[in-house]
Amino acid sequence: MYHQIADIPSDPWDLAVSPERFAQQIEALARVRRVVPLDKLQQTAPGERPLAAITFDDGYKNVATAAGPVLERFDCPATVFITTGLIGSPREFWWDEVSHIVLESGYTGVLEVAAGGSPIHFDLSDRSALRKTHDALWAQLGKLESSERSDILLDLAGQAGVDLSSRQSHAIMDANDVAKLKNGVINVGAHTVTHPTMPSLDFETMQHEVSQSRKDCQELAGYAPTTFAYPFGHYDDRSVEAVRRSGFQYAVTCDRDLVRPHAESLRLPRAAALNWDGDTLMRRLP
Ligand SMILES: [Zn+2]
Repeated sequence: MYHQIADIPSDPWDLAVSPERFAQQIEALARVRRVVPLDKLQQTAPGERPLAAITFDDGYKNVATAAGPVLERFDCPATVFITTGLIGSPREFWWDEVSHIVLESGYTGVLEVAAGGSPIHFDLSDRSALRKTHDALWAQLGKLESSERSDILLDLAGQAGVDLSSRQSHAIMDANDVAKLKNGVINVGAHTVTHPTMPSLDFETMQHEVSQSRKDCQELAGYAPTTFAYPFGHYDDRSVEAVRRSGFQYAVTCDRDLVRPHAESLRLPRAAALNWDGDTLMRRLP
C-alpha cells in the first residue's frame, strides 16, 4: 500500500515515498514477487515466485507522473484508488492542508476553529508540541462533513497566512490524468467521493459514496472499476455490504497481513510500504 511518491517537507502520516526509494522498492519487489493486477491476485496461481499487487490510495497526481514510469520500467501493474469528488480539485487533500498550515507555514499564533458550538483554539507557539497540536486539529476536523471542513480550512489558512492552492508535490489528479492511465500499467479503483470515515455514515449516505464513486470512475477512466479501498482503512459490516451492492469484486483494508488463499475478497489486507530503501522493504514484507 502506497499513497504518494514525492519528496515532501513533512509527512505526519507516513504517506510519501521518495521517487528514488520507490524505484528501489519496485526493483526489489519484482525480484521476489510476481506483481499482478489486484483483481487477478486471487485468480492467478503462483508460479516460482509468490504474487503481489501494488496499490496507491487517494489519487495523487505524482502516482501518474512519478510512480507510473517506474512501474512501466519493471512491467508492474498497479491500482490507484481515486477519491472521485476531488479529481481536478485546485486544492489538496484536507490532511495535507492541515499539515501545510500547522507544520509547514511557520505560523506561531493561535488558530481558532469555530465549528458549531464555542470556538476551539490551537496554539502553535509551543513548537515542541506542534505534532500534538497538529493531531488534535486533525482529529477535530476529521469529525466534520467535507464541505464544512473545507470552509474551516480556508478560514484557518487565512489566519495563518497560508495559500491553499495546491502545491505540485501534493496535487490531486485531474480528469486528464485519469484518462491518460488507460492502456497503461495503472488501473483505476474507487475510494468514495469525499473520503469519509465510512462506519460513521448512515447506510444511505455510505451507499451513495460508494456507488457514485464507481460511476464517476467509469466516466473518468472509461470502465467500471472492480476494486475499492476503504478510506482510512475504516470499515464495518455495513461498509462491506455497501461495497458489495455497488458491484465491486475486491476491496482492500489497511489491516496488515498477507492475502491468504481464502481471504474474503471485500476485506483484503495490505501492508504499507513506507519511505524505505529496497532492502528495508524486503525485510518488512509480511
Ligand atoms: Zn485514502
